[in-house]
Amino acid sequence: MDHIVKPGSKANNSLWAENPSEINLKDTELNNFVDVAIIGGGFSGLWSAYHLKKLSPSLSIAIFEARELGFGASGRNGGWASSDYPVYKSTLYKRHGKERTDFLFASLNNSIDEIGEFARQHAEKTGFVKSGTISFARNEGQVQRLKALIDDDHHWLSSSEVRAKLNVDGALGAIFNPKCATVQPYELLIGLARELIKLGVKIYTNTWASEAPSGVFANSHFVRADKVIRATEVFSNPNREFIPLYSLMVATEPLSEATWSQIGALERFTFSEASHLINYAQRTVDNRLAIGGRGATYPLGSTLKESKEMTSRVHKKPSCIGALMVSNSQRRSIYACLGRRSRNYSRLGTVCTFQ
Ligand SMILES: Cc1cc2nc3c(=O)[nH]c(=O)nc-3n(C[C@H](O)[C@H](O)[C@H](O)COP(=O)(O)OP(=O)(O)OC[C@H]3O[C@@H](n4cnc5c(N)ncnc54)[C@H](O)[C@@H]3O)c2cc1C
Repeated sequence: MDHIVKPGSKANNSLWAENPSEINLKDTELNNFVDVAIIGGGFSGLWSAYHLKKLSPSLSIAIFEARELGFGASGRNGGWASSDYPVYKSTLYKRHGKERTDFLFASLNNSIDEIGEFARQHAEKTGFVKSGTISFARNEGQVQRLKALIDDDHHWLSSSEVRAKLNVDGALGAIFNPKCATVQPYELLIGLARELIKLGVKIYTNTWASEAPSGVFANSHFVRADKVIRATEVFSNPNREFIPLYSLMVATEPLSEATWSQIGALERFTFSEASHLINYAQRTVDNRLAIGGRGATYPLGSTLKESKEMTSRVHKKPSCIGALMVSNSQRRSIYACLGRRSRNYSRLGTVCTFQ
């Protein structure tokens, strides 16, 4: 197996991780045996541990993270807790039948409420708010694509209804899904880790692990395990079945209430344009506009490269801002907020994912 994250690579440089809640990850001796060894300290690894502990509290579980918690996309993402699925429901009906598809969507909807409940109890700084998501159309092609999504969970908004929520220039309409939420993802992850520690899960950071027969090697120390869960996302790449792609975000400094009253999004819902090139944003819990999109280039050899994360091209004119109908002076001030501390704010830029 090819491992992309190697010991000694850079620490998490995500904006979300700048003022994190405290977590006590004191150095713990490695046990020689655990029931379940989990490789990777992102959402996949941590939620797996959480649900296993809920199902079977006596399980001994260890999580091994090569860098620090949230080093991967979990600590750097767009903060959308979304019940949407990137395949048309009608396609899923054809492929998997109605019962299984409906079960999938019921589970997706439930998962948002579960995240909300967890955040309320254990991760207050997550700023979880279930205020939905809006995907707006600015040309006829986008209207057609969005209208194909209308169902019980996706309501059509006319252009004036869109404007009442979000001041989009030239909006012809939008799809609104009220069952989605907005979160500060890194705080959610830290809350999850804190809760896992209380439940007796051992978390080892700066511990690079690899699967071995009957266990794992963790920083060259053999730990026997009945089960091993690989939750390393793009960082391990068996047989190059997939390639990691960069996907970047930028965020402004906190914007004034005057600017927000022009932009809208007062309830902090997430929003995107229904364009083919992905382009999305949210109002963060600390009143920034955090914008994400695709279009970053692939670094040869699937390497992590800070120069690819910190490109000035990305933060100069995110198209989402162009779509917002604010006064010219407000628009200039939003761009200025991006430019002034560009290096810091493009640090929300993220490492690889497979989208
Ligand atoms: C810019 C961007 C925006 C996104 N926005 C959203 C969004 O708004 N909503 C949403 O739901 N999803 C979003 N995603 C996708 C989402 O963030 C990822 O699907 C999710 O975080 C993946 O979690 P994970 O735990 O599987 O992987 P990761 O978070 O990548 O975690 C894997 C971890 O494994 C560790 N690791 C790797 N190799 C080893 C090893 N050998 N030993 C020990 N540890 C190792 C890594 O250091 C890493 O911390 C976004 C992704 C990106 C990139």
